[in-house]
Amino acid sequence: MKAAVVKQPNTPLVIEDRPRPEPKSGEVVIHVHACGVCHSDLMVLLGLFPFAKYPMVPGHEVAGVVEKVGPGVVWPKVGDRVGMPWLFSSCGHCKMCVQGDEVMCPFAEVTGVNRDGGYQEYMLAPAAYVAPIPDGLSFVEAGPLMCAGLTVFNALRNAKFQSGQKVAVIGLGGLGHLGVLYAKAMGARVAVISNTPDKEAEARELGADHFISAKSEKSGDALKEWDGGADIILATAPSSESATDAFPGLAQDGTLVLLGVGPGDVKASPMDLVGGRRHLMGSPSGSRKDIRATLDFSDHHRVVPRVTNFSLEDAGKALDMMHQGKLRGRAVLVFD
Ligand SMILES: [Zn+2]
Ligand SMILES: [Zn+2]
Repeated sequence: MKAAVVKQPNTPLVIEDRPRPEPKSGEVVIHVHACGVCHSDLMVLLGLFPFAKYPMVPGHEVAGVVEKVGPGVVWPKVGDRVGMPWLFSSCGHCKMCVQGDEVMCPFAEVTGVNRDGGYQEYMLAPAAYVAPIPDGLSFVEAGPLMCAGLTVFNALRNAKFQSGQKVAVIGLGGLGHLGVLYAKAMGARVAVISNTPDKEAEARELGADHFISAKSEKSGDALKEWDGGADIILATAPSSESATDAFPGLAQDGTLVLLGVGPGDVKASPMDLVGGRRHLMGSPSGSRKDIRATLDFSDHHRVVPRVTNFSLEDAGKALDMMHQGKLRGRAVLVFD
């Protein structure tokens, strides 16, 4: 079978021929049909995760079919449609695991970062950590929901979103465009903040009510003029500067949720924080209960990503285009 591999940080992705994996006790083999291309995959390529292992097959937006199950596996069954998100496995006994927040387990393994992911035709996964894909979602639609979708959907939940609130989304990439779609489907008024003025048409087409060009105006000031500011800001761009700029545009009691990890620090004025009881929080992808909720919501409300398809051989090209900011929506590797 074919696999796209990062042998060492800062070397190009190479296509290798590897033997198909065999499932051991508690494992399944997924026949991968689609795998989304996430900004984190680029971070694996660039060596930006201290816990990454090499050689590594990236990819944690996996959607496919169970090909084979190992001894003792009662669920899922061969032929089931399943996905694999960021969280590959966790310890099961730490405080976070016990309270169902296993994505924050200090012993968690991460798909495509320290365990081989979905840039390959067949991948191993622990049976207990795969997510069932609802019938209403295709593999190409479900793939990007495993990370991009889960991350923005869960961020809105973690920020205690309520219907009717104003949500500002920084960036209109893989996460951002899904952020707009989820927020609208949940009943939000939505603003998009982008450095690229020609993204306005795309933002409006996705359902955004308001567009702020961060090139021509200060996003914090522009947000404040939007009926007193945003209740929630989803900072999806990997840019601490854009989050810092937007923070003063939060309404009282509002929350900025940092999702994109970029260099430098996010700064907030103590006066804005204390006086307005504002919140600055981060939110990692999500746990098993969260991916199931994301997929169910997406299925019922038809929230699906806008995608550009690539072949496995062109995975390097997709990462390159992402690096240069040339992608629209989410890139997805589609397998024959
Ligand atoms: Zn991701
Ligand atoms: Zn744990």
